[in-house]
Amino acid sequence: MNIGYEMYEALGISREVYEYGEIVAKRLTERFAGIDATAEYNQLKVLRGMQEHQVSEACLLGTTGYGYNDLGRDTLEKVYASVFHTEDALVRPQITCGTHALALALMSNLRPGDEILSPVGKPYDTLEEVIGIRPSRGSLAEYGVTYAQVDLLPDGGFDYENIRKAINGRTRLVTIQRSKGYQTRPTLSVARIGELIAFVKGIRPDVICMVDNCYGEFVETREPSDVGADMVVGSLIKNPGGGLAPIGGYIAGRRECVENAAYRLTSPGLGKEVGASLGALKDFYQGFFLAPTVTAGALKGAIFAANLYEGLGYDVVPDGRESRHDIIQAVTFGTPEGVVAFCQGIQAAAPVDSHVTPEPWDMPGYDAQVIMAAGAFVSGSSIELSADGPIKPPYAVYFQGGLTWQHAKFGILRSLQALVDKGLLEAEDVVEASEKSKKSLS
Ligand SMILES: *Cc1c(COP(=O)(O)O)cnc(C)c1O
Repeated sequence: MNIGYEMYEALGISREVYEYGEIVAKRLTERFAGIDATAEYNQLKVLRGMQEHQVSEACLLGTTGYGYNDLGRDTLEKVYASVFHTEDALVRPQITCGTHALALALMSNLRPGDEILSPVGKPYDTLEEVIGIRPSRGSLAEYGVTYAQVDLLPDGGFDYENIRKAINGRTRLVTIQRSKGYQTRPTLSVARIGELIAFVKGIRPDVICMVDNCYGEFVETREPSDVGADMVVGSLIKNPGGGLAPIGGYIAGRRECVENAAYRLTSPGLGKEVGASLGALKDFYQGFFLAPTVTAGALKGAIFAANLYEGLGYDVVPDGRESRHDIIQAVTFGTPEGVVAFCQGIQAAAPVDSHVTPEPWDMPGYDAQVIMAAGAFVSGSSIELSADGPIKPPYAVYFQGGLTWQHAKFGILRSLQALVDKGLLEAEDVVEASEKSKKSLS
């Protein structure tokens, strides 16, 4: 059943765009049922974790000051450990973002003379400064920690031969980024991460395998910690915060690794015992409870966008049919105007700041202008519908999030409408794509 055109018309969507969207969505019915099944499994997994540790009303209150005996904080960390099947977890509002969580995991578990190995190519941009790939004050390089990298093979496979060669007596930690970030390589499935970890442990069982899990949580029924990762790390303003966490990051993993991180976050001797949760706990719990369905909505949005834009002839990564291991979708427009129109359309679909028009600007740390669309309840939250694109070839946008599938769908239709309104696409092109799509339905 569909709700008809009326509400879409009231929100500025043309009939051609609306009808094309309906056809694309119809084609995805079966695929979406699979995503709902994953969400159902993960919902029960989270619920079981909460019941097992007897989350109570008192857990939602929080503490001030030192935060000694913070029942809610300590219980939440047990719930995370339960869901990720790890010995322990650190889940704190004092972890300011994903980069901070990753820096904390690295800096607390490495000592001077150790080496980090990335066997999956260059890590996420902000980690370059943490590690010291780009010289930066306070980086691991300044503390005498070195870095080695093995790129993926041209076909996206692991370069096992060179990974074996790169592992030496100083290799202490292997960092594996699940999501592709702003690169063009495929995102790694949990199964592939498991194969890579097994290979590394086969050479050096004592090496710490850390996975940057950003954007990957709850996309599959298993997490990297189910396939041998010693630590999984991520941001609470992405998937596991469920859109409600106003700040925060997590590290889940082996007890020793998590303890090291706690001693670094607070202080040697204090560790997990301090760190008031203030008023954040209710949102942490409720967000984690909603995270499986929120992630499912974002995933449906990403797949819808891939199919919608693919049908119009644009290059999309991942493509419309590929299996998904994170919630990010890239669409290549080939022109600056396309990138700008897409982002302005996403912004116009937002529940907050929809009246604002984003423009490209010189963002610190980037070598080209960047345009960002984010009309979010939590500033910078990218589990909410958001998009950004650097104004440089190949003129691609990276798009993710949507707290509900219905909102993600509307946002994507609104982005397409913006392209039509700006004359970058003809209404006839949309009609033609609809006709082609209809044929593949029957
Ligand atoms: C978002 C992200 C980070 C960094 O998280 P911030 O919260 O933006 O600091 C690190 N790695 C990956 C793969 C990410 O997607």
